[in-house]
Amino acid sequence: MAREHFSIFSIMREAWRGHSGWTPTWRDAAPKPEYDVVIIGGGGHGLATAYYLARTFGITNVAVVEKGWIGGGNVGRNTTIVRSNYLLPGNIPFYELSMKLWEGLEQDINYNAMVSQRGVLNLYHSDSQRDAYVRRGNAMRLHGVDAELLDQAAVRRMVPFLNFDNARFPIHGGLLQRRGGTVRHDAVAWGYARAASLRGVDIIQNCEVTGFRRDSDRVIGVETSRGFIGAKQIGMAVAGNTSRVAAMAGLRLPIESHVLQAFVSESIKPFIDGVVTFGAGHFYISQSDKGGLVFGGDIDGYNSYAQRGNFPVVEDVCEGGMALMPRIGRIRLLRQWGGIMDMSMDGSPIIDRTPVAGLYLNAGWCYGGFKATPASGMCFAHLMARDEPHAVATAYRLNRFRTGHAIDEKGMGPQPNLH
Ligand SMILES: Cc1cc2nc3c(=O)[nH]c(=O)nc-3n(C[C@H](O)[C@H](O)[C@H](O)COP(=O)(O)OP(=O)(O)OC[C@H]3O[C@@H](n4cnc5c(N)ncnc54)[C@H](O)[C@@H]3O)c2cc1C
Repeated sequence: MAREHFSIFSIMREAWRGHSGWTPTWRDAAPKPEYDVVIIGGGGHGLATAYYLARTFGITNVAVVEKGWIGGGNVGRNTTIVRSNYLLPGNIPFYELSMKLWEGLEQDINYNAMVSQRGVLNLYHSDSQRDAYVRRGNAMRLHGVDAELLDQAAVRRMVPFLNFDNARFPIHGGLLQRRGGTVRHDAVAWGYARAASLRGVDIIQNCEVTGFRRDSDRVIGVETSRGFIGAKQIGMAVAGNTSRVAAMAGLRLPIESHVLQAFVSESIKPFIDGVVTFGAGHFYISQSDKGGLVFGGDIDGYNSYAQRGNFPVVEDVCEGGMALMPRIGRIRLLRQWGGIMDMSMDGSPIIDRTPVAGLYLNAGWCYGGFKATPASGMCFAHLMARDEPHAVATAYRLNRFRTGHAIDEKGMGPQPNLH
């Protein structure tokens, strides 16, 4: 089992002895008959929940059951952007908690997750869009979150190669969050898995939940492809598979599953310092430390559980990229893939109990669940340990869809494919 502490000294020691002394990053556990808590889904949110249950609440008799392999879901498929530039009071404190946890994460879990606060710049292309960004920036600053409104000259100094004078989409300026940036996505999964495992959590891969066992109205465990596992409490953190797993407990949720694609180009010399998003279409781009341009756009727009996308959206994303920075037209695309998004009706997440006693829900992350990983784990752990919501997650209740208290960040109405 992994015990070593990563430090400059352990890296030097291993360099001298040909890296022969490293142990597996986490313990690959076999299921025990029963746990205090079973978390379904070994993505970022499930692993972070297990880690904070152990670290913050001292609950270590915990299993994370994952149907595939750690890092195989959206946690390893996203475009790695983290930010807390939200508008609504229900969202800003939650995402800012996440940003603060990112800032201390590598020290906390003793793992290099390549947290890089390289800045997130959202471009605006019209006066009305600028006004919307002024409002968003002010809301952020009122909550103590950093935000700067840049005019066109300031954007030109930062990213001079953009297509500023495109007659159709002229760039007027941008809203910048300097503390936003990127984090190496699969390192987040591996780092949380390692840190949770070190505190006694069992990480069980190739173990698919196929049903729930109940005693009257309470869940008492999960049926899995590796047998029955008893549990006093069960947390669902299965992202794009939420509707399917919830249906096994007889729940119908306000969530749709949609495909989102990501793209990586061949490696080129350093070109884009931070994250840039196009305001006249849906296109976002950054450059990985290996040199590939990492970019994406809209969801494919139809319901699916297939982790692959279709050509019209590839074309749409590339059009957005070409409108923003025509010079990327000469770069070759290296890789492309899809992930399944759990799109909620108002675009905001759910961290709550379910009507089934002992069963808890973490879902509805839409496009933006990676940045939420630390806060989601912390708040879900808090909910399960204390049986009450964390202070920054009080709005993320399931019954808001019944009472009409939607947290509609984009103002789109109940249209999950538009959030
Ligand atoms: C292409 C793409 C780009 C994205 N870009 C960003 C971005 O830049 N910034 C951002 O903030 N967010 C982004 N996201 C969203 C983000 O990745 C997700 O919201 C987030 O990762 C979801 O949480 P998770 O990590 O726990 O999900 P996952 O990693 O998908 O974890 C869920 C796990 O549950 C497992 N599971 C499912 N069913 C079962 C079962 N029956 N039994 C056991 N296990 C099961 C799955 O195998 C999976 O491993 C992006 C997503 C995609 C697809």
